[in-house]
Parts: sequence; C-alpha cells; structure tokens
Amino acid sequence: MNMTCRVALAALVPIAAGCARMVGRSAEMAEPPCCRAAGLRIAERHGVKAIDARRFTHATLWEALAPHLGAGGLRVADVGRSSEGRAIRAVTFGTGATRVLLWSQMHGDESSATMALADLIAWFAAPSVEDDALRRRLASELTIVMVPMLNPDGAERFERRNAMNVDVNRDALDLVTPEARALEALRDSLRPDFGFNLHDQNANTLAGRGGPQAAISLLAPATDASRSWNAVRSRARLLAADIAAVVARELPGRVARYDDTFEPRAFGDVMQQRGTSTVLIETGALPGDPEKQRLRAINVVAILTALDAIATRRLGRANPRFYEALPGNVRGGTSAPCADRAWGSVADTHRPRCARCANGSARSATCRPSSRWCGRPATRSPSARWGCGSCARCCPSPRCSSAS
Ligand SMILES: [Zn+2]
Repeated sequence: MNMTCRVALAALVPIAAGCARMVGRSAEMAEPPCCRAAGLRIAERHGVKAIDARRFTHATLWEALAPHLGAGGLRVADVGRSSEGRAIRAVTFGTGATRVLLWSQMHGDESSATMALADLIAWFAAPSVEDDALRRRLASELTIVMVPMLNPDGAERFERRNAMNVDVNRDALDLVTPEARALEALRDSLRPDFGFNLHDQNANTLAGRGGPQAAISLLAPATDASRSWNAVRSRARLLAADIAAVVARELPGRVARYDDTFEPRAFGDVMQQRGTSTVLIETGALPGDPEKQRLRAINVVAILTALDAIATRRLGRANPRFYEALPGNVRGGTSAPCADRAWGSVADTHRPRCARCANGSARSATCRPSSRWCGRPATRSPSARWGCGSCARCCPSPRCSSAS
C-alpha cells in the first residue's frame, strides 16, 4: 500500500475505501516486471525500417536482415529449402541451457510475427544497446532459435498455402511439404523446451461474443482430444498467462483465447504432445492499423515478455487465471459494435476493408483508412486482387455492400 493510501486510511474513510479497492485490483492484475516498456522501446528503436508493410518477399526480408546477421552474437543456418528452392533460415541467439524455438509465417500471408522477429534480431545484433541487461540475461539463460518465414513460397504470393497448395500447418504428421520437414528436423535436433507458433488470424475474429476485434489471441494447444492438462501444456498456459497480463495493458479487451480443440495435424499440438511447451500467438487486427505496424510492436512485447519469463524462471509465479479469464475467440461475430465489424474482410482474411455492419448500416469512418493504401479514393474493380497498389472500396460506396 502506498503512502497516499496510508494517509487516506487514517484520515478519510471514503477515500480509504477507494484505495483499498485500488490496492486489491492492482494486486490481482499485477503486471509482470518485464517487458512492456522494453518491448515497445526496442520495436521503435530497432525496428527494421526496410520492412514497413505486411506484404514482403523472402528476398526483401533477408536483404533487410543482412546488415545485422554478421554480428558476433548471431548464428545463421539454412535448415531447409522450400518447394521452389528458397532457403528456410534459422537465426540463433544466446548460448543458454534452455532451448526456445520460434517460427513464423508458415502461412504465407501471416507476416506480423515475422516483422517482430526481424526487429528482435536487429536488437540482438546491435553493437551496444539500452536494455542490455535484458539482452545479456536472455543470451546467458536461453538458446533462442528463430525461423522467420517458414513458408517463403506462400509469402511470395501472399497466400496461406505453400507452392504445392498444401497448408503446412496441417502437415505435421504426413510431412509431405519440405517446409514441414524442415521444421520437424529442426525440432528433432534442437529438442526445444519451449516453442512459439506465430500466426495471424482472420480480421473478423472477435474477443468474446459481442466484443471488439481480437488483436492478439493466445493458446496453449491441447495434446489430446479430451484437452487434458499435463505438465507440458500447463507450463505453456503459465507462459500464455504471463503474456496476457502484459499485452492486455496495451490492448484492453482485445486479447482473447484461441479455441483449444485438438488438431493432431497442426504443429503446435504436435510439439506440445512431444514435450515442448508451446504457445500459439495469433495476431488479429486493430482499427487504424491496416499494415499491422502497431501489432508488430505488440508482438515484440509478447515475445520478449515470454522469453524473459522463461529466462528468469518466473513462470512458477504466473497466474493461470490471466489465461483462463480471457474471452474466447468468436469467429465472424455479428453482434459486435459497428465500428469493429467495419474492419472485416472476405477475400483476404487479414486485410481490413469495408464490410457491412452488424445492423446493416455502413460506417464510413472506420473504412476510411483502407482508401489510403493507394492514396486516392476507392475505385478498384471487383475482380482485382487485394494487394499493394490496389484500391479498396470504401463505405458508403454503393458497391461496398456487395463486398461484405
Ligand atoms: Zn496461420
């Protein structure tokens, strides 16, 4: 209890009651000691500027990272080739005993975490930095292996599936794709203690029925159809709870819990089954952030928070309630406020664009940012692809209703 509250307790009963509530709430919602401020600072100061929108190719990514990869603290290795021959690369930082594997963009059009991993790599490589104590702690306690862009062929086309038209995240058992085989081989050789399966989800996903768009959804994937809680999964839940406790401060009401139906063909579930405590982080959408640059910074916060929680062994003190109390993901909810529904998408599930509001009316205000993609009002033809340079239709254009 702080001094103000002590004085208030002695003097003023009504204020004291307020202080007691405040103290109780702050204890309940105690934020882990790291890494909201550090993550936002690192994202701002070390963000890889050559990537400033969420559609970029394999060549762009690795050209942007090239100046950083020569740093002494980083090791880079090709861990496989995509079906079209692009290198699948892993970047390793740290020499600690606890092994952590992070992989992003196994779905080619889900790049938010790839941008965040690039920013973290730039920070790991920087010659001298603020937050150096944090970086030294991670380096000494952890071996962090990052695979940004597991599916470079899908990224080339900005499509979910790989060049063989296979969903890599349904290939964890059959291993018909080279991308899945590369991840599996890396898992076999590294035997990670912790794993992070980094994705983007449909922009129409809501944080709870009637809630706003889910900006970040978390999951400790199940290891069996009955969704039981063994030690490995329980540890992942504590990690997700620690992330939630931090990220929810930046995104109140917009952090959700992903559906935990067991999917035996998905990598998160399989990793968890095989002893790697794995957390799924799904980046959703935020109004006013069509290129997901704010969500990129939030991903840096989430990942850094998790890495620090592992490095400092504070997981034992995490409260699983932060995870359990999250609102569930609701797909394509219809009862959400109009301002959020107006960011839905059909053709491209990740690009916010105009959609019909729940009550059938169109809201121009929330649609307006989409017209900035091409810098002029919306004139795109219905048959055109959504992509760089294409124009979005904006509510209340008459054509908007047919797009929803
Ligand atoms: Zn995905």
